[in-house]
Amino acid sequence: MTQRATVTGGPFLPQRRRLVTEIPGPRSRDLLARKGAAVPRGVGTTLPVFAVAAGDGVVVDVDGNSFIDFGSGIAVTTVGNSAPRVVEAVTAQVQAFTHTCFMVTPYDTYIRVAEELNRLTPGDHDKRTVLFNSGAEAVENAVKIARSYTKRQAVVAFDHGYHGRTNLTMALTAKNMPYKSGFGPFAGEVYRAPLSYPFRDGGRDGAEAAREAVDVIEKQVGVDNLAALVIEPIQGEGGFIVPAPGFLATLAEWCRANDVVFIADEVQTGFARTGEMFAVDHEGVVPDLIVTAKGIAGGLPLAAVTGRAEIVDAPHVGGLGGTYGGNPLACAAALAVVETIESDGLLDRARAIEKTMKERLTALRQSDPRIGEVRGRGAMIAVELVEPGSTTPDPDLTKRVAAAAHADGLVVLTCGTYGNVLRFLPPLSMPDHLLTEGLDVLERIFEATR
Ligand SMILES: *Cc1c(COP(=O)(O)O)cnc(C)c1O
Repeated sequence: MTQRATVTGGPFLPQRRRLVTEIPGPRSRDLLARKGAAVPRGVGTTLPVFAVAAGDGVVVDVDGNSFIDFGSGIAVTTVGNSAPRVVEAVTAQVQAFTHTCFMVTPYDTYIRVAEELNRLTPGDHDKRTVLFNSGAEAVENAVKIARSYTKRQAVVAFDHGYHGRTNLTMALTAKNMPYKSGFGPFAGEVYRAPLSYPFRDGGRDGAEAAREAVDVIEKQVGVDNLAALVIEPIQGEGGFIVPAPGFLATLAEWCRANDVVFIADEVQTGFARTGEMFAVDHEGVVPDLIVTAKGIAGGLPLAAVTGRAEIVDAPHVGGLGGTYGGNPLACAAALAVVETIESDGLLDRARAIEKTMKERLTALRQSDPRIGEVRGRGAMIAVELVEPGSTTPDPDLTKRVAAAAHADGLVVLTCGTYGNVLRFLPPLSMPDHLLTEGLDVLERIFEATR
């Protein structure tokens, strides 16, 4: 029962929201039952409709329903699903060769991806890039590299941080449920420092918040033991928290003064998502190492660590790698993604999406005190939902709004330490009429749940 052969995705899909069954429809319900019998329950489902095609602003399911996509598969299909240049490049590569292992007989596209990442990441110092398969794997390797370079062991992550689901990255991740509970013991020598969270810390000055974090680090870890700080420039799973201006820069400066490696986890924020190539670019911060994944290869699994040559070159020959890291199909896709971002002006597009979304959501907030804050950058925008007149989180309302959006043909995701943040991550190829219609749907739901 495969539908896929008869459906063409990418930009050829009609760009419309269209519901032809209840949600989920009968075919999705059948598949959901089979999923329950074949796949562990530990693998959750946000919206139980099964995809057969996706492109630009829509995801189409097995029952023929067409959803507006405000999720991009968690910030992955930034250039669009089955984006034309990606399809073309991957198709050509799959016909040439699918794998040799870069550590056995290398190929040039890996080098070209490394060159592009070295060019696009902040700072004009000499850089190196090493490729992996997932964000978590890349974060792990950034820590390996930092330890090898500094010959120190401790790593500091931050409140509300999310860095993945492997053992070390679970340790780096702040939130217990659902990521960590019952999965310990976790990797050692991981410490946590406080974050700047303007909505919840009274809008504390960024530099001051950074000095408080540094104080915790100096007193509880000790600079002589510290290899690296790992931080998302905007916390993703933690709630799209944009730290106060100066927070990141002050931390980066302190790292430089103390020979601590500053690692920016740009897995979710990177690659044009926020209206700059990287979220640190908004503040002119230059990380020592920058970790990318999600949006860099248009949906193919690829991740990278890019950084100062002297740091990334610290591990011995053979110390870094992996069977699939920098797989040729993923590399072909990544090169097509870079070309698409640059040729189609997608940084501007992300800024235009920010303007549209923030205008509409800010107006909604003015009439609805349950929206505590509208925040984010580019096509990475969120609303934090609270009990009116307070900062008390309202996760139930958040769940209800998300469920109503799904039932009405709009894919939205939730996030946040308190489960009270609705996040919007449309592909940058989403047409304006769907962006507007998605916001109309949200506005109606907020009115109906009042
Ligand atoms: C998703 C994410 C990761 C983990 O990436 P995977 O590819 O799922 O392993 C790490 N860091 C951040 C900031 C993420 O958003």
